[in-house]
Amino acid sequence: MRQAELAVAPIAGNTAYQREEVGSLSVSDQELDDFRKVFRKFVAREITPHVEEWEHNRAVPRELWRKMGAQGFLCPWLPEEYGGLGVDIRYSLVVINEELIRGDGFGVGVPLHSDVATPYLYSYGTEELKQRLLPKTCTGEAICAIALTEPDAGSDLASLRTKAVRDGDHYIINGSKTFITNGMVADIIIVACKIPDAMPGKSISLIVVEGDTPGLVRSRKLEKMGYHMQDTAELAFQDVRVPASNLLGEKGMGFKYMMEKLARERLEVAVKCQAMAEECFKEGLKYAQVREVFGKPVANHQYNAFKIAEMAIDVEMGRTFLNSLVDGFVRGENINTKVSMAKAFLGEMVNRVAYQALQLHGGYGYMEEYRICRLFRDARSLSIFAGTTEIMKLIIARSLGITV
Ligand SMILES: Cc1cc2nc3c(=O)[nH]c(=O)nc-3n(C[C@H](O)[C@H](O)[C@H](O)COP(=O)(O)OP(=O)(O)OC[C@H]3O[C@@H](n4cnc5c(N)ncnc54)[C@H](O)[C@@H]3O)c2cc1C
Repeated sequence: MRQAELAVAPIAGNTAYQREEVGSLSVSDQELDDFRKVFRKFVAREITPHVEEWEHNRAVPRELWRKMGAQGFLCPWLPEEYGGLGVDIRYSLVVINEELIRGDGFGVGVPLHSDVATPYLYSYGTEELKQRLLPKTCTGEAICAIALTEPDAGSDLASLRTKAVRDGDHYIINGSKTFITNGMVADIIIVACKIPDAMPGKSISLIVVEGDTPGLVRSRKLEKMGYHMQDTAELAFQDVRVPASNLLGEKGMGFKYMMEKLARERLEVAVKCQAMAEECFKEGLKYAQVREVFGKPVANHQYNAFKIAEMAIDVEMGRTFLNSLVDGFVRGENINTKVSMAKAFLGEMVNRVAYQALQLHGGYGYMEEYRICRLFRDARSLSIFAGTTEIMKLIIARSLGITV
């Protein structure tokens, strides 16, 4: 089955594992706000002052992961028995994610680690794997990545070619992956691959590959348009031998598991889109109120005032929609189709707002010393990863019964 068909396959409500991941629902907004203040201070002290250097180095130091781990900022939603704090999912999915963006740490690969990759291990890993690996994902000793995309299989994941062949108590993996966030540094990689003897239509499985496994080659750190401090890598798997117990869940169920995790993953990106749009809007408005052209501020020319008003509408609509989805997710509603709408809408909206905010800056917006320059560049990826806008529209159309 193709990815898009599976993406709209009915999923029974919001399933048990999602409920588990949500954690305690009794947390108050005040507690979340208090946590936000603590994390904001951490970002101001440990991240923002180093952003320029990390962007230049194309890497975030490992030390930051350990510092975040020591403070409980990595996978805080995991139950205490696995090293987490057992708190509400919004601590990481919303608060940490937003505050990293507000503090210019867009490229710190923590949200992908905490809210996209690690949940697979928690939901589908054997108890032995979970006991051994999850505590390290909380301390920062182990960084997690998820490797789905291949050079010839991005949107159409069903055509992926990485193979895992059973050999006694092991699987032997061969293939290649590209665009893998945290790929150069990851200690735990969730790899989507095909097991040849799986049932027809159930060919994709997810297998954990640990970073020091012989045959795992981190072939290339990719040079990107933006997100410079984040590593995005090409990986090769050359006869990578892993214990059969590294298979996540059941053989051939990989696609189902991916669909089950999509709401959370796309919500994570939707939060990023909204937070970045808000930052772009703030930068555009601030500049346009100060810079004078033809005797008055840029913002006070009616054309620009209307443009700013349109940006404000976009940002406000986005915030309202996003908050309703986060609330729905926490309440256990099935938000899968709506989250595709949010990913499509917010992924395009942030790009519209970033474009206009930069335009309001004139030539200064194109200069690295202005914050909008980097925001604009980094925002561009948001309508692409975790499913492109076009794929989101395909999913939405199919949920409406349209055959495409
Ligand atoms: C910064 C960054 C980080 C990433 N991190 C990860 C990661 O950690 N792990 C991972 O596995 N992947 C990651 N990706 C990969 C990302 O998920 C893919 O790039 C994305 O899914 C699109 O796949 P593709 O690049 O192969 O484009 P393609 O699938 O080749 O698409 C090309 C174009 O065709 C359009 N298209 C495709 N199918 C259709 C259709 N049926 N109808 C109409 N239009 C269509 C697409 O929307 C797009 O515009 C990352 C990508 C980026 C840029």
